[in-house]
Amino acid sequence: MITGYRTHNNGELRMAHIGTEVSLVGWVQNSNDLGGMNFVNIRDRYGITQLAFNMDANASLCEASRKLGREFVIQAKGKVAERSSKNKKNPTGDIEIIVSELNILKEAKLPPFTIEDDTDGGEELRMQYRFLDLRRNPLKNNLLLRHQMGLETRKYLSDQSFIEVETPYLIKSTPEGARDFVVPSRMNPGEFYALPQSPQTFKQLLMVSGYDRYFQIVKCFRDEDLRADRQPEFTQIDCEMAFVEQEDIIMTFEGLIKHLFKSVMNVDFDGDFPRIDYAEAMARYGSDKPDIRFGMEFNNLNALTQNKGFQVFDNAEIVIGIVAKGCANYSRKQLDALTEWVKRPQIGAQGLVYVKANEDGTYKSSVDKFYSEDDLKEWANQTGAVAGDLILVLSGALEKTRKQMGELRIHMANELELRDPKVIKPLWVMDFPLLEFDEESGRYHAMHHPFTSPKKEDFDKLDSDPGNVRANAYDLAINGVEVGGGSIRIHDSAIQSRMFDLLGFTKEEAQAQFGFLMNAFEYGAPPHGGIAFGFDRLCSLFGGQDSIRDFIAFPKNNRGRDMMIDAPATIDTAQLKELSLDVKIVAETK
Ligand code: ASP
Repeated sequence: MITGYRTHNNGELRMAHIGTEVSLVGWVQNSNDLGGMNFVNIRDRYGITQLAFNMDANASLCEASRKLGREFVIQAKGKVAERSSKNKKNPTGDIEIIVSELNILKEAKLPPFTIEDDTDGGEELRMQYRFLDLRRNPLKNNLLLRHQMGLETRKYLSDQSFIEVETPYLIKSTPEGARDFVVPSRMNPGEFYALPQSPQTFKQLLMVSGYDRYFQIVKCFRDEDLRADRQPEFTQIDCEMAFVEQEDIIMTFEGLIKHLFKSVMNVDFDGDFPRIDYAEAMARYGSDKPDIRFGMEFNNLNALTQNKGFQVFDNAEIVIGIVAKGCANYSRKQLDALTEWVKRPQIGAQGLVYVKANEDGTYKSSVDKFYSEDDLKEWANQTGAVAGDLILVLSGALEKTRKQMGELRIHMANELELRDPKVIKPLWVMDFPLLEFDEESGRYHAMHHPFTSPKKEDFDKLDSDPGNVRANAYDLAINGVEVGGGSIRIHDSAIQSRMFDLLGFTKEEAQAQFGFLMNAFEYGAPPHGGIAFGFDRLCSLFGGQDSIRDFIAFPKNNRGRDMMIDAPATIDTAQLKELSLDVKIVAETK
């Protein structure tokens, strides 16, 4: 006697089950009507099983099966039998169910796109019908991966005596550098909560409370312009430790990342992850998250290129060359396309100089007017370009040019397919600057956040040369993606208040915003530090994909909208009144 909806799931039955009476439930994937026989594939999240209906054996049941539409929810009871033509691609492909009873549990409208691995639905449509999109294997596998990543994270950290503590979502602003999402308070008219950009201040308070190893897999909210790898709400593995130095944190969380790679992907790493200083990363790769799966490092060409009459280089603070291996055969059209690419507003270069090291030993450049073959040969020697290579050169202000070249380096690597997704190259980027000068506001901003500790050796520069103070801050980059970052914190209220000073807060402002933290530091704050990993990003990296969206069950589109529930939306006047709010849309003034 079969009780309940199902005896097995649709990914479970094998040859060993032949002869067993079973009951399966699931969605109709598709049918294959051969006249005398009708085959229906039934699907659930575990797999697909073939149901067989035979006109000779049971004509009315076979006819009933012909009426099943795609995505109907059904129950099928019957006996497991060996299949005559086996499907080796499907784990249940050796068997089928000879159905004796068929129940439609719920009919379904025809879905607006096919529920197949390669669907015909466009992204917007799939976002709108996310509940259907989630039935597809690619998304299902991503959610399963995410689940496993979460589980292994909790396992590893719990084993290391970390405890997971929840922190509030309705808080006051946390300064992580983005805009806050705000929530009006009904009980406190005219006042607003901010949703946390991260639990930063709370995890530091937990250290003061004595919970020396904290973590939380937690939602964070940042009102930023969106890109493929950003969402207004995203998830972090947020961590903090007390009585530690930078090295303790690095080793503990390198351990976490290694554990995830081992347990989820069966990938081992030899030795410690490499490290690079921020300053060196910028000088060699023009990026604070260098992709080191390939070389194409920067060469400083100032000495070889300046004072030869070419004004553009003469006026430049830096002239940087990179070598694209084997690209001397680039056509005029390809080089023009590259020049256009660097001139796009997102990159913002004025132009691109190239040198072809031809196979026949000659050199050809876009600046032949100013440089002799011998000059160009020296550039080749300096950059390591050999016959067949192409040297690409950008020049201008130091920081800007480095960033532009950093982008071009990645662009070329993509073009030349040097970013092998099967290779995994983690890199710790260390010693970030404490502050970053913002031209627009004319003042310093915290590069990480205002709670980050300056390096002890640089304390004396806080007054004389704040722009050159380094922080005890570190990021972990993997394959050119920043997956995490953190710092040793300030745990002394005097230094913390000096930091707020530097950031342009008056004493009163600092007190109003962060008085609670500085006050807590007066009650026995241990030395502490931490890190947070972008969980969605880690999942997409493990899944070998660029977009984090497909690793979030219900994501927003790049206008920050949830297409399915159609949010954000207006609220009615009664609700506004309750909140003591009146809405007036003010046109943006610039
Ligand atoms: N709160 C920081 C962030 O969200 C991470 C940290 O410093 O631990 O980037």
